Amino acid sequence: MAKLPIVDKDKCIGCSTCSVLAPKTFKLGKDGKAEVIDPPGDEEEKIKEAIDSCPVDAIKFAE
Ligand code: SF4
Repeated sequence: MAKLPIVDKDKCIGCSTCSVLAPKTFKLGKDGKAEVIDPPGDEEEKIKEAIDSCPVDAIKFAE
């Protein structure tokens, strides 16, 4: 299973890039910020791409 990412909601600006790149792992919540679907349904590679594409660096893998 792919590692679990975490989103820093204070940083997230709700641009939806992560939920487009890895839709089985990220969704936008009612507050318009990204939430992580647990367990993540995308390949780790896709999740990593989403992490790298976040414009405000709000996502990282949980330790
Ligand atoms: S890519 Fe980053 S800023 Fe955009 S919705 Fe995802 S966590 Fe938020």
